[in-house]
Amino acid sequence: MGVQGDWSSWQGSWGGATSGAWGRAPAAWPQACEQDALGYAMQLGEYTGKEHDNMALRQIVKEGDSILRKKCRPVTAFDQKLWQLLDDMNETLDDAQGLGLAAPQVGILKRVVVIHMNDEVVEMVNPEIIERRGEQECMEGCLSIPGEWGILNRPEFVKVRYYDRNGDLYEIEGEGLFASCASHETDHLDGVLYKDKVIRMVDPSELEETEDNGEE
Ligand SMILES: [Zn+2]
Repeated sequence: MGVQGDWSSWQGSWGGATSGAWGRAPAAWPQACEQDALGYAMQLGEYTGKEHDNMALRQIVKEGDSILRKKCRPVTAFDQKLWQLLDDMNETLDDAQGLGLAAPQVGILKRVVVIHMNDEVVEMVNPEIIERRGEQECMEGCLSIPGEWGILNRPEFVKVRYYDRNGDLYEIEGEGLFASCASHETDHLDGVLYKDKVIRMVDPSELEETEDNGEE
């Protein structure tokens, strides 16, 4: 985490008329905050930074399941159970070739999100959007709503404060695709789906064939 990536390669990866809105680099990669975790119980185990041997794919919950409509609880223990969840979410997101995944999408009502963009992995625990600027019209899909895409408005820029898997506080800011993805995933933690905000759904004939379906 924290290596500057070439986000321009995302340009047009979602296809369709809104491709010009994508691909701008984030203004900054995650930066550690000086504050410590706010009184969260630290139960650090033996995490070495390596993937667990027993990573597992989890089943992605689909639209219609009431779990997607519930508000998630903050994480209070940065322990092996959290790391297992994060490892499994990373594995599940990779397998689904998506951009982002929120814990309720694998049936866990905790405030945990992973975002994979351009070979970067950002794991966000208890994320909070602390700044929003501007507006962009974007096209989004969702791994919980497969095969459908919609057009909606998102902030053009967001700054997110979150904890990493060790309970250290970070901030990340970005625009374009990152801003829409971070907004989409944090919405999941409050039981909100992109369809709740959609301006219109996209007809499949509007979509070009793309390698990456951009679902979150
Ligand atoms: Zn989603």
